[in-house]
Amino acid sequence: MSASARQPALRPAVFLDRDGTLIDNAGDLGDPDQLKILPNVALALQLLLKHDFILFVVTNQGGVARGKYNEDAVVQTHARLERMLCAEVGAPKVICEYYYCPFHPQATVEKYRGEHEWRKPAPGMLLAAAVAHGIDLEKSWMVGDQERDVVAGAAAQCRTILISSDRELAAASVGDFVEKDLLTAARRIAASVVDNAAPGALGSVALHARRSDILSDAVFQETINSMAQALAQRTGIKLVRIEFETNCVIATVEGGDVIALGFVAELRRDSDRWWREHRGAESPWGSM
Ligand SMILES: [Mg+2]
Repeated sequence: MSASARQPALRPAVFLDRDGTLIDNAGDLGDPDQLKILPNVALALQLLLKHDFILFVVTNQGGVARGKYNEDAVVQTHARLERMLCAEVGAPKVICEYYYCPFHPQATVEKYRGEHEWRKPAPGMLLAAAVAHGIDLEKSWMVGDQERDVVAGAAAQCRTILISSDRELAAASVGDFVEKDLLTAARRIAASVVDNAAPGALGSVALHARRSDILSDAVFQETINSMAQALAQRTGIKLVRIEFETNCVIATVEGGDVIALGFVAELRRDSDRWWREHRGAESPWGSM
């Protein structure tokens, strides 16, 4: 057996900032009881895990350097966060490893005073994870809500996404992309995998009606058809077919399931608006 055959393949990862990306916290947090996971984070992590990304948290913990809490509190906080994420995501393990940097140049606690190669915007935590876990950095992503996150990701050769709704910050960012939250970032990452792996792959998603008589409305059927064609034209997504069953509409598009999910979400929004204007106040659709 050759050396290359024995070498396990490097795997892609997503490196995640913690505060303002996974949890609702603008400053220092060393108390597990204060943990609050941001909306849609569980959906985002499910999507990334489904696409075989290994997930890491990489977080600066200057609060340790300033003596607000100790490293043990950081470890306890991450243990609690992992339990919460596992419960929300529905997986036995979500984050492969939590990396944190307790150092700061202006530390009040002397042993943590100084610059450190792990402190973002330096890429040390990402590089350490890559060596320890066999990560292909060029196929990996860094996502965070601060410019230092995307600078660290770029320095490690990863693709980067800044999470921000601030237009000025977005315009000035070195990030490859800017998204409004972790879920839209995860969709972008998942779509890139679909694009790379199988450009011709088809994806099908069903839109379920709230009642069985809703889709027997011929005018509504025709409206959905026209809306789907217009949506395909507007977005450049190739619509393969749209099928009507008794209780649901099934859209099949090129590009795989993630693209189909986005397409159907838009179709749902458009058709919902039409129904409320022409048929009644309640949405025609059940849950997706
Ligand atoms: Mg942050």
